[in-house]
Amino acid sequence: MSLYEKPITELSSLLTEKQITSVELTKIFLDRIDQTNPTLNSFLTISHDIALADAAAADQKIQSGQPTHPLCGIPVGIKDIICTQDIKTTGASKILENFVPSYDATVIAHLREISAVRIGKTNCDEFAMGSSNENSAFANCKNPWDLSCVPGGSSGGSAAAVSSRQTPTSLGTDTGGSIRQPASLCGIVGIKPTYGRVSRFGSMAFASSLDQIGPFANTIEDAAIVLDAISQNCTQDSTYQGKPYNYVPKHIHAEIKGKTIGVDWAFIEAYASDEVLANFKQQIAFFESLGAVSKNISIAHQKYASACYYIIAPAEASSNLARYDGIRYTTQKGQEGGLDQIYVQSRSEGFGAEVQRRILLGTFVLSAGYYDAYYNKACHIRNRIQNDYKQALQEVDIIATPTTPAPAFKLGAKTNNPLEMYHADVFTVAIPLAGNPGLSIPTGFNKDNLPLGMQLVGRHFDEETLFQFGHKIQREFQHHTKVPTL
Ligand code: GLN
Repeated sequence: MSLYEKPITELSSLLTEKQITSVELTKIFLDRIDQTNPTLNSFLTISHDIALADAAAADQKIQSGQPTHPLCGIPVGIKDIICTQDIKTTGASKILENFVPSYDATVIAHLREISAVRIGKTNCDEFAMGSSNENSAFANCKNPWDLSCVPGGSSGGSAAAVSSRQTPTSLGTDTGGSIRQPASLCGIVGIKPTYGRVSRFGSMAFASSLDQIGPFANTIEDAAIVLDAISQNCTQDSTYQGKPYNYVPKHIHAEIKGKTIGVDWAFIEAYASDEVLANFKQQIAFFESLGAVSKNISIAHQKYASACYYIIAPAEASSNLARYDGIRYTTQKGQEGGLDQIYVQSRSEGFGAEVQRRILLGTFVLSAGYYDAYYNKACHIRNRIQNDYKQALQEVDIIATPTTPAPAFKLGAKTNNPLEMYHADVFTVAIPLAGNPGLSIPTGFNKDNLPLGMQLVGRHFDEETLFQFGHKIQREFQHHTKVPTL
């Protein structure tokens, strides 16, 4: 097995036992990226020099014998929507194509404190709006399992990078499914933490009441290690709840006997494809074979979640994206025509079609005449959805669904039909509306060798139970040992 195929847990031991240095390890991953990125386009920026400097600092720390975090000396890919001091951060948008932040997002500051290695910035949909990575202004990212398919989105580059072993882990953001959906389509682990678990400071805001940063990894333990690192203290984000997740391996390895799983069968059967449904049933049966109990539940307002999400998210986005005005850090166009022309031309040329669509939709639902009919109503529905999940999770320990209705689709298959694209999130959008944590774990492959995945949803701040369940599937089926050939 090549070193780049190993999980963080093993690489970290090799580093602390001084069998390899972080500089050597980082070079292996940089070579892997240099070789495969022209095919995958998963990285928009590869930060060779910064990565090697970070690695050298990690080596010094390890040499000095002081206790280190398991991520010390380990490369991390960073979604290009998360601000990194001195490393270009574009949001995959033309409007920020030359933006170099002067500060770090809190999650990046934490990675630097523990001497993780910033290996580069990963491709994504422009301002995290999309389900296929095809809205990136820069390059189409491909699915490592089938280069004619999408990696999912919006954090498609982060998922493809981990799946193809360009990096052992990466960070993404999830507003309506953008960690869980690409994790599933690329066959890896991805977790959207509870809202407020991880600081959003320095993550470009899409829909502030929904956005969360979270990790991608090949194993449950690795995802837990990264969540531990990024969920630490923040004084800059008032929605950060001050409840860091602490990684304790034996908690994850605890058995699930006697635990309960809620399944809204009617909802799942209405949307999942036959192969996805069959695979999902096998996972539930496996959990039952370990002594867990499944219960049929109904999340009554779930069927309105997509409609509700596609009102609330664009509404918040239209306000958040007002800051990109051509005056401050954005690329400026139309100077010759005065201030109005600068606004119009900078935004018309700088934003892609999907971002413009969301801004229009968002301003419309917030306008005086339609506020009550759309935005206000969506907020009411959101409350109902929150209550549904709260009640359901009083009766069961977790709720399970497939992560996506179908495996990865072909590049270009849905680009002309935004509604069909929005439908790719049918199982994931409700969870950020309710604020709960959601984990996607690989559950095997279909007949075309495309990955399938399962979503597990837990109580607020109970990521641990999700990890426990996910770990059982990993331990039994070992899907994470399969690596796509590139
Ligand atoms: N696909 C959803 C959207 O386009 C979710 C995106 C996300 O989670 N960032 O809004």
